[in-house]
Amino acid sequence: MKSSAKPVRVRIAPSPTGNLHVGTARAALFNYLFAKHNDGTFVVRIEDTDTGRSTKEFEKNILDGLHWLGIDWDEGPELQGTRYLGNHGPYRQTGRREIYKKYLVQLLNEGKVFACFCEKNKEERKESSPRHAADLHSCPDRDHAYTLAGSRPFVIRYKNSEFLEYYARKQETIKHPAELGVAVDRAIYQGALIQFNDIVRDKLEYPQGHLMDFIIAKSLHEPLYNFAVVVDDHEMKITHVIRGEDHIPNTPKQILLIEALGFSRPEYAHLPLILGPDRSKLSKRHGATSVDEYQGQGYLPEALFNFTALLGWNPGGEQEIFPKSELIKLFSLEKVQKGGAIFDTKKLDWMNGEYIRKKSIDELASLCIPFLEHAGTANPGEHVRNPECLKKIMALEQPRLKKLSEIGERTDYFFKEPEYDRELLKWKTMSEEEMAGTFDTLIHILSDVTLPQSKEKLEERFLLEIGTGDKGRILWPLRVALSGEKFSPGPFEILEILGREQALRRVNRAREIYMQKV
Ligand code: GLU
Repeated sequence: MKSSAKPVRVRIAPSPTGNLHVGTARAALFNYLFAKHNDGTFVVRIEDTDTGRSTKEFEKNILDGLHWLGIDWDEGPELQGTRYLGNHGPYRQTGRREIYKKYLVQLLNEGKVFACFCEKNKEERKESSPRHAADLHSCPDRDHAYTLAGSRPFVIRYKNSEFLEYYARKQETIKHPAELGVAVDRAIYQGALIQFNDIVRDKLEYPQGHLMDFIIAKSLHEPLYNFAVVVDDHEMKITHVIRGEDHIPNTPKQILLIEALGFSRPEYAHLPLILGPDRSKLSKRHGATSVDEYQGQGYLPEALFNFTALLGWNPGGEQEIFPKSELIKLFSLEKVQKGGAIFDTKKLDWMNGEYIRKKSIDELASLCIPFLEHAGTANPGEHVRNPECLKKIMALEQPRLKKLSEIGERTDYFFKEPEYDRELLKWKTMSEEEMAGTFDTLIHILSDVTLPQSKEKLEERFLLEIGTGDKGRILWPLRVALSGEKFSPGPFEILEILGREQALRRVNRAREIYMQKV
């Protein structure tokens, strides 16, 4: 069902003040899926007006991360240069200052906002937050008509018709700034309510007076977020605002500005918070929080895309693995959950493994090479230098691998000769004589066997030699001699890849180590 008669236009508006966070990626993904589901348009807009904290590097990280995830935008900034796609640009707020100024002047002239020249505004300040004592401010300039009086600096405040009443009650009641608080505020004055519908959370309301005469711009050239976002969403014809629920407190302010400007209200959908396994808001404490960290750990973009789509949304049923096209087909905002979404790394690992198993061996090999290089196995020995060997290693690891970054550690014994733990070479309670016999047998078979040879044939040959006795006597020392590891794939799989010469070298070396008297 199409959720709007107007063509759907949605956006994400990341601030380039940090790397692409999984929360932003989730918001981007839900907007993307919603747009694609409705044949709509997905816009990326860079909110870079906080010039002190915004950087080009962060912007690049965010855009690169979205591209890597496969969340491509229909309109927005290009990765390089200043050209943009689409005709609702510029798509960076720093390029839109004249547009904001035009609307600020309009509101000042209409007396819907006012220039506040108060002393305390000279210092740089953030948008007012109703809980902040410093913002309980009744400005003597609020009824003055707008004139650019001299060159004194001013901030621009929204002229809230409910504010004076609320302020008067507050003055009567509060004895100490600590008493400013949502519960106290509601008890002393409720007044007119700003009501809005949220597709995820249904009806929401907020007492208008509590927003006070909030600041909308630090000057005519420095609009703050709540103002800029309203202007941009209007100019870019955004129909649905889909973003994290941490923005719910901003929505009433934005609605007041939308009304002051005579714009039409978009639909809202606030997405549930992303939580760590302990149910507190996801943070660095829980592990990686930025998309590039997941990329660096060897998660596949398809897996992270699928996993992220299920962070707070589920089409119902048991299915967890959904290709992109199916996600687009199934996505609906109505099925977004209200409660927090747990970021379960174990599930992500499982899902990544599933996607790794979907790769062809060639694809997996080329995906793994950078990780092998990183792990220091960039110059593999002669025996695995050939691509056929690499493919065999990939085939061996594909069923078990969860993250590409594990590949180096899991397979380094193929690339460099192992260090041996003498005790590990020994099977159960074998004596030194028995071990010496085992090494002799191994060397005898390996010298005799034709290689390359399939692992089935190799196994047959070894079992013939071992006869009916305890197979571990031969196979355990062989496996450890080949891999040096306590856990590894079976000896014949390793042998098939290493080849005879390398295998013999390792078995001889293992024997030498074992026979050294301790
Ligand atoms: N710059 C805001 C953020 O990154 C955008 C919020 C919005 O979507 O309105 O959270």
